[in-house]
Amino acid sequence: MKILVLNCGSSSLKYQLFNMDDESVMAKGLVEKIGLPDSLLTHQPAGGEKVKIATEIPNHSVAIELVVNALLDEKHGVIRDMKEIDAVGHRTVHGGTTFTQSCRITDAVVAEMERLVELAPLHNPPGILGIRACEEKIPGVPMVGVFDTSFHQTMDAAHYLYGLPYELFEKYQLRKYGFHGTSHRFVSMRCRELLGNPAESKIITCHLGNGSSLAAVKDGKVIDTSMGFTPLEGLVMGTRCGDLDPAILPYLMRKEGLDADGIDKLINKKSGLLGVSGVSSDMRDIEDAAKNGNERAQIALDMFVKTVLRYIGAYAAELNGVDAIVFTAGIGENGIAMRENICRNLSYLGVEFDAKANDCRGKEVEISKPGSKVRVFVIPTNEELMIARDTKELVQ
Ligand code: ADP
Repeated sequence: MKILVLNCGSSSLKYQLFNMDDESVMAKGLVEKIGLPDSLLTHQPAGGEKVKIATEIPNHSVAIELVVNALLDEKHGVIRDMKEIDAVGHRTVHGGTTFTQSCRITDAVVAEMERLVELAPLHNPPGILGIRACEEKIPGVPMVGVFDTSFHQTMDAAHYLYGLPYELFEKYQLRKYGFHGTSHRFVSMRCRELLGNPAESKIITCHLGNGSSLAAVKDGKVIDTSMGFTPLEGLVMGTRCGDLDPAILPYLMRKEGLDADGIDKLINKKSGLLGVSGVSSDMRDIEDAAKNGNERAQIALDMFVKTVLRYIGAYAAELNGVDAIVFTAGIGENGIAMRENICRNLSYLGVEFDAKANDCRGKEVEISKPGSKVRVFVIPTNEELMIARDTKELVQ
């Protein structure tokens, strides 16, 4: 069975074609700058050279057509007939409270996704465009939607409600949803395997990338997560501020003369590591600047470590103990110094850190010492494979 996994952004589209007989990637690629000047498709067949195709790509429909043509191409293609694509799995950001699991895409599902655009005005429309484009260019192929919020739908009201008037929750579905769910699900499942699939387990998963979130996972179910109504809540991120005293927002709006869009931009795009350091939103740049004596970069680094530690502490308390901690995503998989800084402060929980094992990037590895009361793992995330697995299960 061959499954195409699509991750559509407003001006980009990432894809991977999986052969689900052995879960291997047959080809992958990226369409950039859809609807903009200089649009480009980069396609890479497994084991082959990258091919770059610069051409006008005015919309997602043309992007899908180009992807299918690249997959079928005589030279760098990997299939002979479009019919070889058995199903398409779509990454979809917001499933609200409706989609507690991945599901087959029907007209009713798309209609509900359209209704949810109100909750995710930036993130859901590109997903819907991707689905429409597939209906047009690969007609008849079964499709599955995999939602970033689904895995967190097991939280109870005490965890997902905010301390706001209850009527606002009823009126606007104003509550914590959480994001990165497909990643937290993938790495927590793998972690449970590594623990020997015990019936009971308490795991804290740390997805640390450009956007970062933690989840507390008890017996395979999320009980709390750090992102909220939007992906802004929680940790200090690349350009997002994370947790704030909410009174700062009206204060700044008055002082700086900002309207709602202005304050939204400030806290989403100009804050976080970038805003504090003034250097960059990228952790590698911040680490380099801090090494070279940049004080604000050092403060940004320390803030990042502090917020991760704060959430690990909070989740260890909510879980009433912890069996394992998992690091994943760009910083979690590659940030050797960052992991060390975090783990050295977790001895109170019973983490015995193994610096030698930690000295590696992008690989699955246990970075706690044998016998450590709390085990710590680096597990590379693979959201695309998770989407392909869900798609396979739902179409079979
Ligand atoms: P996204 O959320 O965009 O998917 P990623 O998961 O790819 O982001 O993570 C990007 C982050 O990972 C960036 O801050 C980058 O600096 C960081 N990163 C990548 N490699 C390293 C490394 N070797 N050391 C520290 N941070 C790294």
